[in-house]
Amino acid sequence: MGLNKKSVDDINVKGQKVLVRCDFNVPLKEGKITDENRLVAALPTIKKLVADGGKVILCSHLGKPKGEPKPELSLAPVAVRLSELLGQEVKFVASPVVVDDSVKAAVEAMNDGEIVLLENTRYRAEETKNGEAFSKDLASLADVFVNDAFGTAHRAHCSNVGVTEFIDTCAVGYLMQKEIDFLGNAVETPVRPFVAILGGAKVADKLNVISNLLEKCDTLIIGGGMAYTFLKAKGLEVGASLVDDTKLDYCKEMLAKAESLGKQLLLPVDTAIAKSFPNPIDAEIDVDYVDCDAIPADVLGLDIGPKTAEIYAEAAKTAKTVVWNGPMGVFENPVLAKGTIAVAKALAETDATTIIGGGDSAAAVNQLGFGDKMSHISTGGGASLEFLEGKELPGVAAANDK
Ligand code: ATP
Repeated sequence: MGLNKKSVDDINVKGQKVLVRCDFNVPLKEGKITDENRLVAALPTIKKLVADGGKVILCSHLGKPKGEPKPELSLAPVAVRLSELLGQEVKFVASPVVVDDSVKAAVEAMNDGEIVLLENTRYRAEETKNGEAFSKDLASLADVFVNDAFGTAHRAHCSNVGVTEFIDTCAVGYLMQKEIDFLGNAVETPVRPFVAILGGAKVADKLNVISNLLEKCDTLIIGGGMAYTFLKAKGLEVGASLVDDTKLDYCKEMLAKAESLGKQLLLPVDTAIAKSFPNPIDAEIDVDYVDCDAIPADVLGLDIGPKTAEIYAEAAKTAKTVVWNGPMGVFENPVLAKGTIAVAKALAETDATTIIGGGDSAAAVNQLGFGDKMSHISTGGGASLEFLEGKELPGVAAANDK
């Protein structure tokens, strides 16, 4: 499909003030960044704009400060780490209201090729409501706007959508372009066979994803908690497993849809079972493995079984394109992570284009050390899911067309 939006390669920002919306929403523990993937992913765009000789003004949200300054959600640690990663000072221009006269003065004083970082955009209550005043404040700082925040692209906020109404030139950055090229090509023009693997807790969270992917893929694989609603819809006993009884008809519809489209829809054939959910989640646990047509009424299913893992791994290995979103079981527990690990391993070993749809599956793949074996790991869980649903993302739509 390719992205028909103006990109940073289509502009030269020499001598211009360029506001860049990044996704610096990184996990912090006691002021330390515990996963800097999103910072690393933002570097190519920042470097290009600096190389042009632009005055680079970075902005992002971090966590949910709910419209007021929260010191623990300040972007200050991000400025420090970005300076190290870039080998160039990123000056943090802190303001409790993000943009004020002192911030404007700091921006006016910038030389070509310098970088500043604004404070957490969600310190302003209007940010998540796409309010006009804050959009104008942000726009007043810059001549050009670049959106490189894929992780927020499914939301219409001031710093990624509102601001574009008040700046003439609005482009997307390299990360945005890469995310959309990978996800877009995989879904719209996949090299076949195209296998989609969905897991995670609830069917309800992924209704539209299941329906849309069924139309696009050759094989849809279901694992994780959502599988048990499908199994129950097929008339099987699932004991005390996670089930959404309000979605049984939906699952039946999807099974029928797969059949009428001639698509394969794979469900677990065996499962890990236990008497109760592990508490705490990583507690020691005794599990048995049973076939899915023999689940006793007093147990619950917490992971796919070894036979299923092998079938899923085989399906992934014969694919040319694989998209994966959501774990196959309660992967936070080492005993119940085996199904998720087996799928991650199969994806790491195949030559297919492998795309991980962010969130838990991305974290799992990275923790297992398979990160560099995947073709693409999305930096946006929610945004990638909405993309897989076939929705247009407001943050992308707001950029100028080529
Ligand atoms: P991703 O983050 O990759 O997009 P997700 O976050 O959408 O995936 P969720 O719907 O949040 O996925 O589900 C992840 C959770 O599902 C994990 O915490 C996992 O423990 C839980 N889970 C997986 N399998 C089961 C199961 N059989 N029973 C109960 N919970 C499960």
